Amino acid sequence: MNSIILDLKQIIEGEVSETEEDLLAVSQDFGGIIQKQPQVVVRPQSSIDVAKAVKYAADKELTISSRASGHTLSGQSLNQGGILLDMRGLNQIHEFRPDCLWFKADAGVTWKQVVDVSIPHGVIPPVLTNNFDVTLGGTHCAAGVGVNSFRYGTQADNCLGLEVVTGTGDVVWCTPEQNSELFYHVLCGYGQFGVITQIQHRLKRYRPFTRTYFLCYDDLDLLLNDERLLVLEDRVDSLVSLFSPCVLGVSRTGENGIRPLIEWFYRLQITLEVDSVNDIHEEELLSSLNFYRHIYTEDLSFEKFVQPLVQVPHLPGTANPWIDVLLPASAAKEYIETALKRIPSFIDFRNTPVGSFSMVTRNSNMPMFPLPEEEFVIGFGMYPTVPKSQVQPVVEQLNQLTDLSLQMGGKRYIASWVEFDLPRWRLQFGDHWSKVNEMKRKYDPKGILHPGFFQYEQPHQTNLSSTKTYTLTK
Ligand SMILES: Cc1cc2nc3c(=O)[nH]c(=O)nc-3n(C[C@H](O)[C@H](O)[C@H](O)COP(=O)(O)OP(=O)(O)OC[C@H]3O[C@@H](n4cnc5c(N)ncnc54)[C@H](O)[C@@H]3O)c2cc1C
Repeated sequence: MNSIILDLKQIIEGEVSETEEDLLAVSQDFGGIIQKQPQVVVRPQSSIDVAKAVKYAADKELTISSRASGHTLSGQSLNQGGILLDMRGLNQIHEFRPDCLWFKADAGVTWKQVVDVSIPHGVIPPVLTNNFDVTLGGTHCAAGVGVNSFRYGTQADNCLGLEVVTGTGDVVWCTPEQNSELFYHVLCGYGQFGVITQIQHRLKRYRPFTRTYFLCYDDLDLLLNDERLLVLEDRVDSLVSLFSPCVLGVSRTGENGIRPLIEWFYRLQITLEVDSVNDIHEEELLSSLNFYRHIYTEDLSFEKFVQPLVQVPHLPGTANPWIDVLLPASAAKEYIETALKRIPSFIDFRNTPVGSFSMVTRNSNMPMFPLPEEEFVIGFGMYPTVPKSQVQPVVEQLNQLTDLSLQMGGKRYIASWVEFDLPRWRLQFGDHWSKVNEMKRKYDPKGILHPGFFQYEQPHQTNLSSTKTYTLTK
């Protein structure tokens, strides 16, 4: 047993492990692309345990990273050669106040735990993602985008307060008013400025019934225009679209023989939450839209509607190089058409989920989750699963599509596949990049928290502007 384990066992109440099994269990994430192995896993039982582990790491100049369910995709939750804090043991809901519309819980609580407690009280967190197995800490560190984020922002936007252990081992309570600088950087900050131990989060009352319209579009322009209308005029309670390719023949003009002729169709799903389905003015809603066909109408109880549609397993031997880009609405059509044209050249387009969601910039105010500079934002996601042996060329294509999005004024949702160098980090954060660097130096002066995902400027570099160094082709 090495001395680090012995030291940590002396000071930490929770479990400390160096078994091969425990180290391997935290050496990969849902992406299956990056592998890193810490030398010790700590399962803290309290924020005091977390503070002691961080102080120890700072004293010994060891790196320390926090990991929850490991559903990020490019090593954001991994650690090489240092201490890994497995946050899932901090899993108690401490206060649940449906009367005041908030709850307070440990960072390792899953969203499933919260929903199971809240539904019987007629309340719900305002935004839920498509995965309830992830933790409060994990999504507050990323953003947490749902089908109603155009109205309520991200999950991080609905955070009321955080208990944070900074990179110096100080335990700090922060809110939008108190220690606000730390609050606004730990949220969506991927553990770069501190470890979240507790979270106070908003609740809202929900209506008991939902009706969802499944509408098919054959024209991307019409789809995007209808999304803008529905979102900016607040006509629906949630909205998402999924894109389906259809092979409508083959051409013999292809370079290597035949070339499939692919048309994309777009399914818009819009949902209304109501006290009674009789309250819905269906004719008024649908007649204002320009879909090609109304496919289906689904009535569900709210309890059933909010559950994630499917559980996505991580198949052995596969990698998930998923990407989400956030596009200014004015560039969305051009970007999406370019991406849809390219997709069949590098992934099995028939088995790759592709879709989009919407955001409104005034409803999200997270400096570490930058949005394009337009009122209406289109999120566009591609979620391929490929054998590990074939991941490299796919990643290269996705990196090119990332660069194209940044060049067109877009931003990346960096919970998914991200391979950024310094120029890309500058483009991602724009004018806020120098503040990100300043916050890192202030709250993690020894640079022990999560090295390896973010890259920072060297202190002597003064011009941190978002110099565009990429020349890209569409
Ligand atoms: C199948 C699937 C579906 C998804 N659907 C959605 C979706 O609909 N919407 C959406 O927005 N995202 C979605 N995601 C992305 C997912 O929400 C994020 O990756 C989220 O960060 C995962 O949380 P986690 O608990 O697994 O955290 P981890 O992946 O373990 O950690 C995420 C990041 O937060 C840090 N971290 C974790 N806990 C703490 C803590 N307590 N303090 C400080 N830092 C911490 C980690 O170091 C890491 O940088 C999906 C992912 C998958 C795999």
